[in-house]
Amino acid sequence: MNKKLGNYAQDRWVEAEAGLVDIPSAIDGRVVARASSSGLDFGAMARHARMVGGPALRAMTFHDRAAMLKVLAVHLTAHKEELYALSADSGATKRDNFFDIDGGIGTLFAYASRGRRDFPAERFVVDGAVEPLSKEGSFIGLHVLTPLQGVAVHINAFNFPCWGMLEKLAPTILAGVPVITKPATATAYVAEAVARLIVSSGILPDGAFQFIAGSTGDLLDHLDGQDVLSFTGSAATSRRLRDHDAVSRKAVRFVAERDSLNAAILGPDALEGTPEFDLFVREIVRELTVKAGQKCTAIRRIIVPRAQEGAVIAALGRQLDRITVGDPRRDDVKMGPLASLGQRAAVREAVADIAREAEIVYGDPGRVSPLGGDAETGAFQAPVLLRCASPLTATAPHEVEAFGPVATVMPYDTLEDALAIVARGEGSLVASVYTHDDAVAERLVLGIASYHGRILVLDRDCAKESTGHGSPLPGLIHGGPGRAGGGEEMGGARGVHHYLQRTALQGSPGRLSALVRTWLPGAPAPVTAEHPFRRDYDHLRIGESVQTPPRVITLEDIEHFAHFTGDEFYAHMDEAAARANPFFPGRVAHGYLLLSFAAGLFVDPAPGPLLANYGLEGLRFLKPVSPGDSIRVRLTVKRKNPGREPGYGEVRWDAELFNQNDETVARYELLTMSARSTGD
Ligand code: NDP
Repeated sequence: MNKKLGNYAQDRWVEAEAGLVDIPSAIDGRVVARASSSGLDFGAMARHARMVGGPALRAMTFHDRAAMLKVLAVHLTAHKEELYALSADSGATKRDNFFDIDGGIGTLFAYASRGRRDFPAERFVVDGAVEPLSKEGSFIGLHVLTPLQGVAVHINAFNFPCWGMLEKLAPTILAGVPVITKPATATAYVAEAVARLIVSSGILPDGAFQFIAGSTGDLLDHLDGQDVLSFTGSAATSRRLRDHDAVSRKAVRFVAERDSLNAAILGPDALEGTPEFDLFVREIVRELTVKAGQKCTAIRRIIVPRAQEGAVIAALGRQLDRITVGDPRRDDVKMGPLASLGQRAAVREAVADIAREAEIVYGDPGRVSPLGGDAETGAFQAPVLLRCASPLTATAPHEVEAFGPVATVMPYDTLEDALAIVARGEGSLVASVYTHDDAVAERLVLGIASYHGRILVLDRDCAKESTGHGSPLPGLIHGGPGRAGGGEEMGGARGVHHYLQRTALQGSPGRLSALVRTWLPGAPAPVTAEHPFRRDYDHLRIGESVQTPPRVITLEDIEHFAHFTGDEFYAHMDEAAARANPFFPGRVAHGYLLLSFAAGLFVDPAPGPLLANYGLEGLRFLKPVSPGDSIRVRLTVKRKNPGREPGYGEVRWDAELFNQNDETVARYELLTMSARSTGD
């Protein structure tokens, strides 16, 4: 392979004629692809995304877009062997492919299912609760999230050409925002293959996806406040982008993931021979060798009790001796080459920098004997361990990110010192703590949490199922403060929110209910002639309600309920004991009795379109009900959610129970499934 990579601009593939950059194989240096974006009209690409892609995506609901992501994930899964084969030239072993290719596709699947579960079948999201703003209740506020009407520009690092692209694409498409994505040139041929699969699938609408193989030219000059720039890579490039006029003057949203000197901390209790010590060693070796240590989340700083230092270095050495470096296509090779000779030179330079304040205790940075590869033309690098004797005063081991199989051991004397050493990294994506002691875990985790986006506490209890130090997960935040860039990606629904605008809406309950298609307290709740349980999902209207007649609660009811259910709690059965309780005026009705009687009041019993009651949410008992009081119920259609099944949909009802003085005694949201009318 020595192909010219395509750019996908304005819905067609374009090959540049000039400015082509050779991309060498990491294995042997032969040119595997050439890339250039010269000749692209970047302004037209941005306009195309805004004018064509954005409107098409915004016309869909979150559920429609989630369904698209799922089909896309299935499509890519069918082609992943092709991607594995291409990836070998980037240095990736089979194990590395699992993180990059399977991990990327897995993120699409994860956002597809979150889209259905955590987002409504709407084009907006209601975020949070209603804010009462007036005495009489005629003026309220709430927040909505709607898609930005611009374009998301994604700039990715070389180390994960597939995952890096898809973990940014998934939340953005789910949000309804079109994407222009640019991979790092060094591994752009893998990203281009993924892009070609995305395009040829025809799943995304026109304008929703564009791809740049090469430089972004003047693209950033065409961005404005409706756009998002999301970047992964070096601190130097991140700084350049942050200082760009688009970010500093036009307030383009900027998300950055960059250098991070992640720590692993061995607790003082985790002596040699404990499961936690072994887990510590296993995790460090894995992080040093997966992707040849070219992971933004890899462990760079190994923080150990001083007494354990020798044992840790010896144990790591024994494990690292077993790591075979070489051609990633060979089954007997555990670690492939770095992405390029340039990266290897940068790693060796970084080791030399760190070694000014540390000694090398394992490996020789300049020597490697690869299996099935050439040490000169291939970017092979053997693992290197350093030891910094004075981590509280040294600087380079906390600042220089050797982006390869390199880490530095740092001893500590007290937990306070360990915290201070971690903090010298000035903010990281992730740290892992190895202890089986509650007090140590609490001291370490609370002491370092503000410096991290994620902390793994690894011990014998979770080791078997742990996903490990280095794996960012779609449902958890990936990002970190300070040196790590200050950005946040993924984290479940939060990752989608980066591409949505949060807007406070103020107005009357009726107006806002109609706008957000959710009945809000204070909005009209008309009583229908026909009981709403007689109406199928498609014919129910938001706000329609049932108002029941009252029912008096007698002492006999309470006693009958108590004996029948076995709930003879004193507050229902013992007048003196109930009176002594500060919450009750005397014996009161069971909360569950009220719920049962409420159902008895509002239910329409005959068979009909209401299929099942499957739970309730947000239940509060707000006022005690004494014998002789009466209750009545107002049941209102609050929200409808069509769900996945064609035959029925979810209906959420606001259930409010009042006493004879019209005071609310209980409130909850009742969840039911109602049949859909065919053909509607
Ligand atoms: P770079 O910052 O050089 O590149 C990252 C991305 O930015 C690439 O797609 C690159 O494109 C692009 N880029 C570079 N300059 C510009 C610019 N002026 N305008 C727009 N885009 C630009 O990082 P590298 O990938 O080369 O990695 C270098 C170092 O960064 C690593 O050795 C490592 O220390 C760190 N790194 C940190 C990561 C993290 O998440 N913590 C991840 C990856 C790297 P192109 O490739 O075409 O130059």
